[in-house]
Order: sequence, then C-alpha cells, then structure tokens
Amino acid sequence: MGFIPMAVAIVVAFAVFGWSATRRFRLLTIGAPAHRTDRIGQRISHMIQIAFLQWKMPKYKVMGPIHMLIFWGFLVLLINTLILWGRAFDVKFDLWVLGDNPLGHAYHFVKDIFTVVVLVAAGLALLNRVVLRPARLTASIEAGVILLIIITMMVADLVYSGWQMVDEGVGGFDMREPFASLLTLPLASLEKPTMDLLGTIGYWAHSVLVLIFLNLLPYGKHFHVVTSIPNVFLSNLDSPGKLPRDETIEKVLKEEDTGDGEPQFGVAQVQDFTWKDLLDMYSCTECGRCTDNCPAAKTNKPLKPKTFLTNVRGHLYERQNEFLSGQQKEKKLIPDVVDPEVVWSCTTCRACEEECPVTITYVEKFVKLRRDLVEGRGEPPAELAKALRGIETNSNPWNISRMDRAKWTEGLEVPAFDADAHEYLFFVGCASSFDDRAKRISRSFVKLLEKAGVKYGILGTDEPCCGETARRAGSESVFRMTVDANVEAFKELGVKKIVTGCPHCFNTFKNEYPELGLQFEVVHHSELLARLVAEGKLKPTEKVEQKVVYHDGCYLGRYNGVFSAPRQILHAVPGLVLAEVKASQKRGLCCGGGGARFFMEEHGERVNSLRTKQLLEASPKTIATACPYCMTMISDGLKEKDLYDDKGQVDVAEILAVSCGVGERKLLREEPTP
Ligand code: SF4
Ligand code: SF4
Repeated sequence: MGFIPMAVAIVVAFAVFGWSATRRFRLLTIGAPAHRTDRIGQRISHMIQIAFLQWKMPKYKVMGPIHMLIFWGFLVLLINTLILWGRAFDVKFDLWVLGDNPLGHAYHFVKDIFTVVVLVAAGLALLNRVVLRPARLTASIEAGVILLIIITMMVADLVYSGWQMVDEGVGGFDMREPFASLLTLPLASLEKPTMDLLGTIGYWAHSVLVLIFLNLLPYGKHFHVVTSIPNVFLSNLDSPGKLPRDETIEKVLKEEDTGDGEPQFGVAQVQDFTWKDLLDMYSCTECGRCTDNCPAAKTNKPLKPKTFLTNVRGHLYERQNEFLSGQQKEKKLIPDVVDPEVVWSCTTCRACEEECPVTITYVEKFVKLRRDLVEGRGEPPAELAKALRGIETNSNPWNISRMDRAKWTEGLEVPAFDADAHEYLFFVGCASSFDDRAKRISRSFVKLLEKAGVKYGILGTDEPCCGETARRAGSESVFRMTVDANVEAFKELGVKKIVTGCPHCFNTFKNEYPELGLQFEVVHHSELLARLVAEGKLKPTEKVEQKVVYHDGCYLGRYNGVFSAPRQILHAVPGLVLAEVKASQKRGLCCGGGGARFFMEEHGERVNSLRTKQLLEASPKTIATACPYCMTMISDGLKEKDLYDDKGQVDVAEILAVSCGVGERKLLREEPTP
C-alpha cells in the first residue's frame, strides 16, 4: 500500500499535531493553580459516566443520541484507523487480538455497523447545522468541514472494505461485514483496474483524512475531541454550592504579605483564571446547550454563556505568542473582552452547568470576575453597593435596623436558642425576617415546629446575615468577615443543627461554612417538614382543594438536589392536586433572584416574568415555592400580570400549616388563577 508515503504522512502529521498540541498545553500553564488530582476512583467513575457513556447527552432528545453514536463510533473506528495504517506496511496487518479469530470477526462486524451509523449520524448532524440551524448553534465553516471529513471517511472505509472482500472472494451479502459486503457486487462488476483504483482511493482517503482531521483539532472547537475526556476527569467534585476561596483576600484580611505590587483579587486578566478554567475553554463543544437554558439569554440579556466562553478563549488564543514568550501586556478582560453587563446578568442558577455535556462551570468564573470588579476596582453596581453596605452595617442587605429582625415573632411565643434545651437552631434568614410577605413563612413554620413538638430556638435580634449574597456579589471580604464572626458565635452557642427556610442560607451553611471552620447538620425547612409528616408528627388533615404548581428554587433543587421534599409535603395535603410544568426539577427556570440579582435592577424582559408565565401554563390556583426570594420574584411576576392578590403565591410550609390546622386559611386563594 506504499509504506514510505504512509510513514512520511504519519510522522509529519504527528509531528505537526504534537507541536500544535504542545503549544496549547503550554498555554494552560499560564493559568493559576487548581488542585484536581484527589479522589482518583471517583474521577474515573465520573469520567466513565459523563465522558464515555455520555450520560448528559440524551437531555437533547434527537441530537444527543446522534452525538453519542458519533462518539462511540469514533472509539470503535479509531482501532480501524490503526489497522489501516498498519496495512501500508503489511497488507495482511491486523491488530493481533483482532485477527482471524472470533474477537477479530466480532470487531469487524461492529466496525461495519458503526461505519454506517456514524455516516448517517454525521449526515443528520450536517443537516441540523446547515438546514435546520437551531438558535443554540453558531454558523461555523469548521463544523461543516469536519462533518464532511467524517462522512467522506466513512464512505471511503466502506469502499475499501468492500474491495477487500471481493479480493477474498466474497460476492454478495456477508454477515461478517454486512454493509461493506453490499458493495462487493457493484465493485466486482467494474473493470479490475477501476475497482482497484476505487479500493486504493478508499484506503488512502480514510488513512490520510484522519491525519488532516487530527491537525485541524487544535485550531478550533474540535479540540474538545482531545480535551473533553481529561476535562471531565479533572472536574470539580466538590458540591457546586461551594465557591472557591480567594487567597489574596484572605491574606489582606489577615494583614499578611501579598507580594510585590497591588494585590490582585479575583480575575482581571485571562491568566488569572486557573489552568482548569482554561481547559474548560478548550473543551467547549459549542453545542449551545448552556445558552439554550440560560435565563439571562432567554430574556435577551447581554449574557450568552457559550459566547462568553468562546470570546475569552478567542482572546487567549489570539495572545498565545505573547503568553508563550512571557511578554504579555496587561489587558483586562472587562471591558475589553467581556462586557460588565454579561458578568452582572448571571443569576448563578447553574442551568448552564447542569446541561453542559463536558462539565464546564460558569458560576465560579463569573464570581471571580465580579471579585475583580468589587474588591479590585471597587465598582459594584450602585444597588449592590447599597446591599453590601447593609450587610456590613446591619447584617442584612436591606440595611434595616437589626433591632427589627425578630419583629416577625410578634404575637407568638418563639424561644431563644439554647443548645442544652433545643435540637435545632431555626436560622430565619434576612428575607424571612424583614420582608413582610416572607415573614408569614417563618410564622407558619414555627407553628408547625410547635405542633410537631420539635425543640428549636431562634437568635432573634442577634441573628446575623449568613453572607451568601455578599459572596455571590463578588464581595469576598464582606463574606469572609461575616462568616468568621458567625463561626465564632455559633461555636460559642454550641449550635449543632440548623434548619432554615431560605435555600441560600441552607446552601452556604451546608457547603461553604465547613471549610471555613464550622461543621454542623443543616436541613432545609421542606426536608424537616416532609420528615415530620412521614413520621406522623404532623398530620395534614384539613383539605386544601387546589391545583398547585411547585416552582423549584435553584439553590434548593439544582444545587442541593432537594426536589422531592417540597413535593412530598404537597402530596400529603388532602384535596391538593400537584401540577408540574415541563421546565421543572433539574430543568427548572430560575426566578431571576439568585446571585445577588435580587438586589439589582433588571432591564428589558424580566426573568421572573418569564418564569411566572411558564408556571401559569399549568393553570394552577396557587404557585408554591420553598424560598423567600423565589416567593418575591414570582409574586412580582404575578403582579405584573395583574394576578397578584397576596394569595396566588405561597410557601409549602404555609400550605402545610393550613392543612395541619395551625395556618391561616384566609391566606390561600379561593378563586382559580386565570
Ligand atoms: S448560571 Fe444561570 S444565569 Fe448564569 S450563565 Fe449559567 S444559566 Fe445563565
Ligand atoms: S459550555 Fe458546555 S453546554 Fe455550553 S456550548 Fe460549551 S460544551 Fe456546550
């Protein structure tokens, strides 16, 4: 088959690929450190599930399975490529385990099937890109060229295999390679020189195109073919609810040396991202699933996660020579590469991360960019600056006097927390302490605790802010000062178990406090209430004859996997019919209030409005939530539609309290929501 040209082609192609790939990998070393070599067993299992078994792909019902087939076919056909290269040196070459034996026959059968499967799948993918063109995909010549290369390779392989079978005396259908054998008759009907020419073209087309394909990889989105498997292996295995710490801020707070020059907080330049953040950029397949599910993108905000990532990657690649020569000029990402509005539009809902088939993360990248804006440049949006001042001054983002924190208890006997007498500290949270509507959630919840005989207490006017808003807003210093004070106070009080009705407090206590010095059991009120119902300590007997749709809050559901507890509560209420909308659980749309967005102005189409519209599609009488921020956002969505009368939107604890005979039935809506 011409071993000299093949040897030259292979050596040259691998040398050029090696050079390109080495430059790309050297570029990773400009990033900040990240530690991703722990928990090897867990990493391997994660990689098998997400990368090899492609578990995330079927979320997209048609293109997902098509990509799975192309990927698996790619693995099977990789072996065939090695065999073809070997045949340039020995026409009878077969990988020794795949020769003329049962394993070899099985392999050639599977390879033949996958050749056709990949051919069809690549054809459909091309059709999708060129004709159907869904909004999530960007028009790309590169993607089209790569798909055409794959299609040509598959056709070439079938022709070569068919030609070989003719050579072996096969003249018609043969189960060993059913599809290739279909070509034996038409090939055999040709003049021998013509048939040999076609077979040789088939051989060389496959063998050489794969080398061209290899060398295109480092220069476009298809580099993910090389990097996505390691990227999944190196994923962050910690809870997504735990944001990374900022060592520089910690040093400044402890008045330690931060080195020469001005200290750098968060990410100002591309090289301030970690090498893993940069590897994420290499690994993006540009499938657009992130943007397709992003509430900011859905409401036409400047943030489109895929575009953000590919723009930063483009900036990194453009300046590759500068970085590799160590002569990079200072260039801030904001505003030169990233519009600050992009960074502030993120609600930190994680819908993008949930969808991404190669486990790329976004929230921590946006928070690191916010840290530069807030801590480094002192440029938070004005409304956010006010909220941060409120947390520093009065330990709540509304900056209401902390002396008003326990006003929600008026008329109730709510005990002050005492570690010797109480099992739980009920951490009320800022929203349910100060917001008039959300205060009713706290009142319903303590009535249920009393009814179930749970020993609990509150901190009253001593309750602090948990710091979550400050952290998501990028003010790591306010967060750390808040946490450090809380850890001291909670330790002194002997707190062992916390229950809270706010998923934001819940997430930060559960996932962020442990590494900052305080390990305790944290439950969300929906989890505790569902348990009390299951144990028979709460008996919902009064009918609430309503159709209710439940809205999954991101920090309760997507972040912490609490999907069933709120639903169990609603299912337990007699007469209540629980409706579901399509966008629920892991695919639930954010209310728009996460990531400190609750305290910021929103212009144009509003996320809460879109979410309310989705929920109303179930024609519910009531929309149930389990988060005080979601409650306000959805209530605002109802107000916008002139559907708000203080009753259309309730917390699961409020419904349960009514059914258990301790709530206020007058709070529930009697008329259906139009
Ligand atoms: S976290 Fe949510 S808002 Fe932010 S980019 Fe991802 S999907 Fe969009
Ligand atoms: S970040 Fe993930 S979901 Fe978004 S385009 Fe890239 S690969 Fe697809």
